[in-house]
Amino acid sequence: MKEVAILGAGYAGLRALHELQKKAAGEFRITLVDRNAYHYEATDLHEVAAGTQPKEKITYDIKDVVNPKVTTFIQDEVVKINPDTKEVELKNNKPVRYDYLIIGLGFRSETFGIPGAEENALEMVNIDSAVKIYEHIQDAMAKYKETKDKKYLKLVVCGAGFTGIELVGSLVEAKKGYAKLAGVTPDEIEIYCVEAAPTILPMFNDELTNYCLKQLDKWNVHLMTGCAIKGIKPEHVVYANGDVEKELEAATIIWTTGVSGSFVMGESGFDERRGRVVVNEDLTAPGHDDIYIIGDVAAVMDKESNRPYPTTAQIALKMGEYTAKHLVNRIKGQSTPGFVFKSAGSVASIGNTHAFGMVGKTGVKGYPASFIKKMIMNKSLYETGGVKEVMAKGRFDLYH
Ligand code: NAD
Repeated sequence: MKEVAILGAGYAGLRALHELQKKAAGEFRITLVDRNAYHYEATDLHEVAAGTQPKEKITYDIKDVVNPKVTTFIQDEVVKINPDTKEVELKNNKPVRYDYLIIGLGFRSETFGIPGAEENALEMVNIDSAVKIYEHIQDAMAKYKETKDKKYLKLVVCGAGFTGIELVGSLVEAKKGYAKLAGVTPDEIEIYCVEAAPTILPMFNDELTNYCLKQLDKWNVHLMTGCAIKGIKPEHVVYANGDVEKELEAATIIWTTGVSGSFVMGESGFDERRGRVVVNEDLTAPGHDDIYIIGDVAAVMDKESNRPYPTTAQIALKMGEYTAKHLVNRIKGQSTPGFVFKSAGSVASIGNTHAFGMVGKTGVKGYPASFIKKMIMNKSLYETGGVKEVMAKGRFDLYH
């Protein structure tokens, strides 16, 4: 029986596992490796970081997806992949041998080498770092109570991409709670979002962008576009506005300027850029048809734009599904057409009851968009985690 190793239980890896177990339980022995015992919904990390949801709401046990008759789960850190010996080196366990490998090792924060960003800004890439952000904010509020220093009431989000905007929305929603901790009114908590580009959300039309801008304005968010961050000093964001370099003092600085794929890709000798490998049409690695690379460590070229598709949960899930199908067909000696991605659109939430985005070719905004966003989240939970996870972690607070 063929050995399949799946590295990473994020959206891509776990969906591949789910589909492989369903489609071909008798064909493979599977080993799944992840550093955590739980899967987390990476798209919802901002809620844990802001403290609007507990971490339990966006995580579930990997074992809930694993069929122990087919799959062995190893909780460990992947150090390196050796394509020549077909082995995966782990930090604490003996190497895992494979006939087919599925790499879905996910993303890390990208600082673009900006000085001090790693040391002095808080990253938001996993459950631990999101929890740390919330603890940091709570701590800052307590410090304000002691010192009355206004820097403790200031929160800066670096980067106004989808992640930054969604985080800002959750911070706004959590303001009341922060104010209580600090003994101030919610208006005294100041939220900044610093963005290098002159405008935000270039993928959306004016109507949607204006909706977002209007909401941010209504909530008194200081959106600083055209401000490229040059460095982060302790409790200070250094940015350039035109030719002028300025500093913004704040006790809480959160880094959301973009992501890269796992360091393991470079460590393992793959031809990568920022941790992403341009894959073949069947999602295999160039020169290694026994290795599939999926999710945020993969770059799939969009033939229309001649650029890689953006890394999203949506494409990661589709890649996971495709890989399982491809592998099953392969074992049966059948061919599979190349991976084709058709985006279903993207919807960004700003807080629990506001959202905006595109569903197919239709723009949506406001409460209906928020409803759609929750349905998208529930669908994704159901398709990988099943009824149990959607009942426990689904979003049914639709009439907020
Ligand atoms: P991103 O790359 O999309 O956005 C990062 C932002 O930071 C950009 O606007 C960029 O101009 C800005 N930036 C970069 N360097 C800067 C600097 N030095 N100073 C100031 N600003 C700087 O990254 P992201 O928001 O983390 O998103 C990553 C991927 O995940 C994207 O493909 C995104 O579409 C996807 N995503 C989707 C959703 C959703 O569908 N709801 C939510 C979150 C993320």
